[in-house]
Amino acid sequence: MKKILTIILSIIVVVSFNGCKATQNTEPQDDARIKIVTTLFPYYDFVRAVTKGVDGISITMTVAPGQDSHSFEPTPKDIIKIENADLFIYNGGTLETWVDSVLGALSNDEQVMRMMDYVDVMEEETVEGMDLRYEHSHDHSEEMHSHSEESEHSYDEESEHSHDEESEHSHDDKEYDEHIWTSPVNAMKMVGYICDEMIKIDPENAEIYKANADEYIGKIQNIDTQIRKIVNKMDKKEIIFADKFPLLYFAKEYGLSYYAAFPGCAEDTEPSARTIAFLIDKINEDKINKVYYLELSSKAVANTICEDTGAKAYEFNSCHNITEKQFQSGVTYVDLMTKNLEVLKK
Ligand SMILES: [Zn+2]
Repeated sequence: MKKILTIILSIIVVVSFNGCKATQNTEPQDDARIKIVTTLFPYYDFVRAVTKGVDGISITMTVAPGQDSHSFEPTPKDIIKIENADLFIYNGGTLETWVDSVLGALSNDEQVMRMMDYVDVMEEETVEGMDLRYEHSHDHSEEMHSHSEESEHSYDEESEHSHDEESEHSHDDKEYDEHIWTSPVNAMKMVGYICDEMIKIDPENAEIYKANADEYIGKIQNIDTQIRKIVNKMDKKEIIFADKFPLLYFAKEYGLSYYAAFPGCAEDTEPSARTIAFLIDKINEDKINKVYYLELSSKAVANTICEDTGAKAYEFNSCHNITEKQFQSGVTYVDLMTKNLEVLKK
């Protein structure tokens, strides 16, 4: 069964690549019983896992493989796909400011999940040494305070996620770090919520969705357990990124302190000499022998730092997106996180 699915999936992929290469990877099948559109790769992956083996489901990812999800702008065709979807899943935050205006224009008969409403969100953080030249200014401090107070209530526990007043507040949450999926614990929760939504849309196949979700959550749980073991054994629970740092949720989940060239997904990738010097000093001081860089990164900062300190550079995957090649070979979130835990182990 798995093999057949893989074949079908690769046919879909090939067909769609021949079609319109620039903006999408899977063309929604017009005859699909249920059409699901996601913006980012992690959600595409979660839906794929939850709906495995169910007929008549089409899943479309708007951001094409290899594309920078931060610079994505929807084409009219993307908007039609979203309009025609039975379920639309997006992340929210500064990464996807375009979504609000698109949603405003839609006839609202489809289900919409804004994933930042389903987990506890954290405010973007800066640590010593980061180059902050390209950060958006945080000068509306009053506004921010009232927001964070509110959010403590609205994100409390596993509260109900109705798209009412509460989520209205979080819609202009520019100060929150949006990379929620980098925490495997968040990923497990989100798979569960996606499963619940699928059961609402297609109750007939509830058993399959439930079993698939349990299986996938089990795989992520296994990664989570292994990461905790590795971190427990680390002498110094500290990681250094010679790059941007979209891994706040990951670091916080496992109690890792971190230093990085830039916070979040700052646009610039050439840090100041001062930031580089800080990271080099930190590596020497704390006797750290490895630095990380992100997927699709130029590695320039990592190379400079490694030359100077003798540290080794390893790729750490933030799972924003995958390459075309990875997409075609069916790489999953679990695969990427498994690689991450392997480099963490080294
Ligand atoms: Zn990012």
